[in-house]
Amino acid sequence: MPSALSRFTVTDGRHFRLRRMDPRGGAHLRLKKEDAADALAKTVGRIADLQEQLYAHHRWGVLLIFQAMDAAGKDSAIKHVLSGVNPQGCQVSSFKVPSAEELDHDFLWRTTARLPERGRIGVFNRSYYEEVLVVRVHPELLQRQGLPAEVMTPRLWEERYEDIAGFERHLARSGFVIRKFFLNVSEEEQRERFLARLDTPDKRWKFSPGDIKERARWADYMAAYEEMIRHTSAPHAPWIVVPADRKWLAHHVVSTAVVEALESIDFRGPASPGPTRRELALARQALTAPAKKRR
Ligand code: ATP
Ligand code: MG
Repeated sequence: MPSALSRFTVTDGRHFRLRRMDPRGGAHLRLKKEDAADALAKTVGRIADLQEQLYAHHRWGVLLIFQAMDAAGKDSAIKHVLSGVNPQGCQVSSFKVPSAEELDHDFLWRTTARLPERGRIGVFNRSYYEEVLVVRVHPELLQRQGLPAEVMTPRLWEERYEDIAGFERHLARSGFVIRKFFLNVSEEEQRERFLARLDTPDKRWKFSPGDIKERARWADYMAAYEEMIRHTSAPHAPWIVVPADRKWLAHHVVSTAVVEALESIDFRGPASPGPTRRELALARQALTAPAKKRR
């Protein structure tokens, strides 16, 4: 069945153009705002069921990566979409400015340590993709990474794309289903959300003065996102460019993509070995045998 999300899904980025993707797109999904909460509740229930199967089957794992400009709604998408999932089956990791220890390693090191186990859903709130986004927009960050001069060549960005693509291919070959979400918010919508953060005491904590500086580099960020998607999209690790100006629609797209990702796994195959018949029989015997007299 062709996916309703195919318009947002990039499996081959060679001809990808970000400006063709509308942050207010998604009309073809025919979802009305007033129906969105019910639709999401159903999808979230389905994710919870599939996640239990993933856990029981214990062969595959799932990695969901979220990247976006500030205030695009990463946190809220993660919160809503995974709200029904058993917390034990899911790990969310956020990646901020790297520490000195992290900078002393290769750029995949800190994320590798947080990869999901088989049977689980791992969520990266930001990821190694920051290495071709914020670091590309701010070359001074690259200077601080302590790399040897020999590797600081004009091919560095190309090489990072290659390494990321190779890493994701390796993960896919090891039994991990990958979906990468770029929450595509418009510059105007971000402006409104920032103003709402300033105006609403409950939201103020989310605002950091640095956000305005990053916003000033909007065009550079969009160029970096486009290049990233062009170079790192693959059938086994697609980018889903989520129209993010309307949160309810963004949540619908992300949750549907997660369902599709989980449904792509064949749980009929042999599951991880559970207890043997003999072990079950012994357990039954132990549980049904007459209790020993207490001394
Ligand atoms: P968010 O903005 O996603 O809600 P936050 O505001 O809680 O998160 P911040 O304190 O802004 O978190 O931390 C995220 C910051 O860390 C971002 O500005 C991001 O670009 C930066 N960052 C993440 N990874 C790297 C990296 N590898 N190198 C440099 N900066 C990075
Ligand atoms: Mg921030």
